[in-house]
Amino acid sequence: MKIICIGRNYAEHAKEMNSPLPDVPMFFMKPDTALLPKKNPFYYPNFTKELHFECELVVKIKKLGKNIAEKYAHEYYDEVGIGIDFTARDLQQICKEKGHPWEIAKAFEHSAPLGNHFLPLEGKKIQDIDFRLEKNGEIVQKSNSKHMIFSVDQLIAYVSKFMTLKIGDLIFTGTPEGVGPVKIGDHLEGYIGEEKLLSLKIK
Ligand code: MG
Repeated sequence: MKIICIGRNYAEHAKEMNSPLPDVPMFFMKPDTALLPKKNPFYYPNFTKELHFECELVVKIKKLGKNIAEKYAHEYYDEVGIGIDFTARDLQQICKEKGHPWEIAKAFEHSAPLGNHFLPLEGKKIQDIDFRLEKNGEIVQKSNSKHMIFSVDQLIAYVSKFMTLKIGDLIFTGTPEGVGPVKIGDHLEGYIGEEKLLSLKIK
């Protein structure tokens, strides 16, 4: 499986990063080793001094497809989850300045922890999902998928022009504003609606 991550998909986040708004979706990838196996602790990586959380809704692909038309994209998923797109912000800044790819800042070991499970959409609209992240009990990110610049269906149509989507592939749909640093000892908790799906201690 592969992990596709969308960059700059919320206007307020692009603003806080001093990034221009995209006119087409922007994506990058993480390997399957970016997942954090259930029950494994998350250790602060030793190659960064500025590890940031980015809380994101995650869509799981349930059907193989390429060149998927936007109007049929909804047939390719029926569950939504939550995850963290961990980012070594200091390394990312260096990559940006050099015009280099982002892998060392984005695709490292355990950089994409997921919640415990995915929630069936069961008629809920994918573009109207409340979600939030708490750090040490305080809300740090809170948004709704209606604020995405590109809808999930537009993202699936776009990405599948370039690569086949396979069953089990994950799309991290972009982070809203409020990204920030973590340190050892912090506790992150991710919610969809009022359901807590993700709980992660930084060790
Ligand atoms: Mg992100």
